[in-house]
Formats: sequence, structure tokens, C-alpha cells
Amino acid sequence: MSYKADKSRYDKMIFRRCGSSGLKLPAVSLGLWHNFGNVDDQEIAKKIIFKAFDLGITHFDLANNYGPPPGSAESNFGKIFKADLKKYRDELIISTKAGYTMWDGPYGDWGSRKYLIASLDQSLKRMGLDYVDIFYHHRPDPETPLEETMGALDHIVRQGKALYIGISKYSPVQIDAVLKILKELGTPCIIHQPSYNMFNRQIENGLLDKLKEKGMGCITFSPLAQGMLSGKYLKGIPKGSRASKPHGFLKPEQIIEDKIRKVKLLGQIAEQRDQSISQLALAWILRHETITSVLVGASSVKQIKENAAVINNLSFSKEELDKIEEILK
Ligand code: NDP
Repeated sequence: MSYKADKSRYDKMIFRRCGSSGLKLPAVSLGLWHNFGNVDDQEIAKKIIFKAFDLGITHFDLANNYGPPPGSAESNFGKIFKADLKKYRDELIISTKAGYTMWDGPYGDWGSRKYLIASLDQSLKRMGLDYVDIFYHHRPDPETPLEETMGALDHIVRQGKALYIGISKYSPVQIDAVLKILKELGTPCIIHQPSYNMFNRQIENGLLDKLKEKGMGCITFSPLAQGMLSGKYLKGIPKGSRASKPHGFLKPEQIIEDKIRKVKLLGQIAEQRDQSISQLALAWILRHETITSVLVGASSVKQIKENAAVINNLSFSKEELDKIEEILK
């Protein structure tokens, strides 16, 4: 039986404006970095995507290299899209990226015009799309002139292969340079995708202010520190978790005692707020107005339901924020 989206899906999500652009994103978006590759159960993958859309999560984030193997997350998403989501194309924001190693030789990595344009063509083919909604440069390239990389992004928009462009992992100084070039070219850069969570607060040192100043949106990746901020590692590494898998990007040695101690204490605050630890961690990120969306991952329907329900309690008292600061010190 073919999938039919829940009619009440838009009553279940909050949409936030992406900087000063015309685009709104759901407060919670779903990333396909893990759990959607050929190594993963495709029935579960499909159920997660359907549940996400049923909850008003209109934004799905991919990259050329997501898998494993690289490219397989896009191919698998493409199959689901073709069979069940095509009819909802105008309700979806699908993003992809290029910037990390994708194919052999000098043209399959970093930020050359050659790589970015060829890579997006490959991504569109894998996903069976005519265009993506957002195309990102995945990481700064120290060798390619920024004019070339930004020129390629501008070209891609003019070709109609992406509606908007974004950048990931760029510093505040690099953002200034990016925006200067793109202003001359006449294509806005509407969104930045940095890492941000309770354990990695680097963007508080100038990046968030820069995005606010420039009217750019912000979607933060790994908001649960790859699952560490869910409380699932409080009693060791559970079977089937990201840290237990050989291809998981979270390594057992990253789950250190200090983090576990902090998560335990955060659990007490979460309980008082009638939230899970994951929901506390996501709400804490969304307290910043500059942050448009939290880009979560999920390996089950239960997780995406829990994460999407963060919108039921987003406000914090000063006391709660102070307590969290104390714990995170
Ligand atoms: P998270 O920090 O949200 O981690 C997701 C993982 O945490 C899940 O796969 C699951 O792992 C666990 N988890 C999620 N929700 C729960 C829950 N409610 N209870 C218990 N465990 C939970 O994000 P990711 O690190 O997956 O990153 C999200 C997205 O960000 C990526 O898919 C990608 O789109 C983007 N990204 C972008 C990068 C960039 O360079 N621009 C880099 C990295 C990510 P488990 O398997 O253990 O169940």
C-alpha cells in the first residue's frame, strides 16, 4: 500500500524563518548521514522518513558521501522518494552537499568548480530529482580560490539545479569573504550548517553573532553529540547503537566518564521539565533565535517521534539555564 501523509502533519511542527530569506524550515529536521546507507535496514529507514514527514518534518538533509558506501544514502532516499514522496515534492526541502572525498582522482574532493558541478549532477541522478532545495559546500577548501567555489554555487542556482545555497563549517571571517563574493554574483547564501550541542559550543564564540548580523539562517548538526546526549550510554555501549557499529562515526573512546557524569546531571533537569534528556538537549539549542532548525539523526521511529516532540517545551527559566551552565562547565 502506498504511503499517505498524515493530514494533521502541519499542526505538529513549528516552522522558523531561515535568516532573512523567504524560506521557513521545521524546528526539527532529519539528517541521513547514518542509518540510511546500504548497511542499514531499508524498511526501518523508510518508516523513519514517513514518520518524520507525518510529524511535519519537511526537511531532509543528505550529502554525496553519506552511506556507507558513499552515495548509498542518496540512492536509498531516491527509491523512497520515487515510490512514495514524489507527490509531495513541493512540500519537501531536500538538501545535499559536496566537499569531502567522493571519487578517485583530483576531481572528486574539496571545492573546485569541476567537483561541485559534477557531484551535484551525480546526486540528482541518485535521488531522482530535477533539483535540490539547498546545495551546500560541505567544508572550506584551503587551496581553491573562494571565487571559484562560490562561482560554482552561483552557477548551480542559475542552472536551476539548486534553489538555495549554503555552507558548512565556515568560520566567521570566511563568511564575510563568501558573502562579499556572492553579493557581487547576485546569489544569496541563506544558511550555514555548523556543529552545535551541549558538548561542543564553539559557535557561541562569534559564529552565531555573525550569522545574525548577516541575516543568515543556521541549522546545527549532531545536536545530540551523535547520541551521547540522549542518555543511551549511561550504562555502557548498547548493542546496535552508533558507538557499537564499526562504521559508526562515534567511537567508544569518545564516550568518556566526564560526559556521562554530565548527562546524568542533565537527566535530573530534564525530569523536572517532564522531558527526555534528548529533548532537553534539543530545546537548549533552539533557545537561540538565530538557530533555524536542529538537524537530528534517528535510527528508529521512536527516536524521531521523541525528538520532534521537543517543540512541546522550548522555554527555559533563568534558573534552569544557570543550572545547565553549571553542569556543562
Ligand atoms: P545526532 O547528534 O542527533 O545523533 C543522532 C544519533 O543519536 C541517532 O542516529 C541515534 O543513534 C541517536 N539518537 C537520536 N535520537 C535519539 C533519541 N531520542 N534517543 C536515543 N538515541 C537517539 O545527529 P547526527 O550526528 O546523526 O547528525 C545529524 C545530521 O547532521 C546528519 O544526518 C547530517 O545530515 C548532518 N551532519 C552534517 C555534518 C556536516 O559536516 N555538515 C557532519 C555531521 C552531521 P543510535 O544509532 O545510537 O540509535
